[in-house]
Amino acid sequence: MKLFVNEKALLMLVVVVAALPNVSAPNAAPAANVVAIRNVTVLPGNGAPPVTDATVIVRDDRIAAIGPAAETAIPAGARVIDGRDKFLVPGFIEMHAHLSKARASALGLFIANGVTTVRDMGGDHEELLRWRQEIRAGNRVGPRMLIAGPYLEAARNIERMRRDPPEKRIEPFERTRIAVGSPAEARRIVAELASRELDFLKIRTVQDRPTYLALNEAANAHGIPLVGHVSGIPPEVVLEAGQDGIEHSFYPSLDGKTREERLAVWRKFADRRVAIVPTLVALFEATFPATDRLRAIAGDDEGKIEPRRAYVSKYLVLDWREQVEEATDQRRQTLRKIWDDVIRRDLREMHEAGIDVLAGSDVSVLNIYPGFSIHDELALFVSELGMTPAEALERATLRSARFLRIADSVGSIERGKIADLVLLDADPLQDIRNTKRIAAVVLRGTVYDAQAITKLLDSVRTAPDRRADDWGRKASK
Ligand SMILES: [Zn+2]
Repeated sequence: MKLFVNEKALLMLVVVVAALPNVSAPNAAPAANVVAIRNVTVLPGNGAPPVTDATVIVRDDRIAAIGPAAETAIPAGARVIDGRDKFLVPGFIEMHAHLSKARASALGLFIANGVTTVRDMGGDHEELLRWRQEIRAGNRVGPRMLIAGPYLEAARNIERMRRDPPEKRIEPFERTRIAVGSPAEARRIVAELASRELDFLKIRTVQDRPTYLALNEAANAHGIPLVGHVSGIPPEVVLEAGQDGIEHSFYPSLDGKTREERLAVWRKFADRRVAIVPTLVALFEATFPATDRLRAIAGDDEGKIEPRRAYVSKYLVLDWREQVEEATDQRRQTLRKIWDDVIRRDLREMHEAGIDVLAGSDVSVLNIYPGFSIHDELALFVSELGMTPAEALERATLRSARFLRIADSVGSIERGKIADLVLLDADPLQDIRNTKRIAAVVLRGTVYDAQAITKLLDSVRTAPDRRADDWGRKASK
């Protein structure tokens, strides 16, 4: 049988299918959902010591009880999960993702990898707000989402993007980026964005210093956190302006200062509770590897070289191909040197000075895999920044939750909090890489066991956005 479908009809079909609720509900939870994880070692994540041989009771979406297994009664009808020789940790928080570029199928990847909260750092926010609504309504499987507005960009950057022909720039940047060309524009745009359901605003590039200061002033006046890139803006100016969070790293940094002088600056950031999300894994996986390898991965649709590649959406692959073209040896060498000489030193000192160095993987960057790569970021926190596994873990859970102002409901395993949990087959405090050894994930009380996780991953691999670009400039209506 041969079907003739014109391209537009096919596209519409894809759009319709993509819009259908993506309910791959795992071993569907009954209305009165009670789960008991028994004989497990709980790593509560709130500074309290591990609790061995514990039972954790989950009722609906909340943690109802935590107690010694011998003394904690398991309610009749509860689904019982054997936690012997296993470790229960809070659901992980991804602090830097671009979900629009990753597309909707990526939402399932976070869950499969134990990532129950994601901070989106710039995208098609109308669509993101819709996805969030669908997740909240139970019509889509996905993490809790915190959403930045569109990227705030220097006006000249947007001008440059407008001049690119579509084949040169596939991102529909009109939906993701706003030009901010002057202090007056900064005030107007912040006022407008602050009136929407956004959790914070993100700076990517800035026109000039007066515009940068105006953005900060307006965000502070509206009480909306301002976070983002600080490339080219000296730390002292960022501190003075009142920016709330920093992405990637400072460059140029505090050169010419002594270690003590630098620590004094970092302590001021720590006092103001400014956090930094360095996204090291993006450097290590997208910038440092040889271009040939990155090109091979971009072309590896079946996931033969890199198994995680089999879950990447069509749009994101197109975007990765653009990124491969930008990866030059010179860029690699320059960034390697900056990392070796400055950034690693700064990050270690920031951590020492008490700044929260939080875990984000920069989902959408070449060779970064939604849900998977955050685990590699934690491993880099230990190997490169000298954190203990416990410190790294806390930064991907409670410390991030505090920064996001959601620590009253998530980020640690405590009675009354939302049941976002990850059951691990091995102790992450012994080896941080054990965060990848996931036996089960509990998302707002719903259990994803190994079978359900496999099903979820399969549904991602066969999702419509894996087969066709449903977002790029060519796909746009
Ligand atoms: Zn980013």
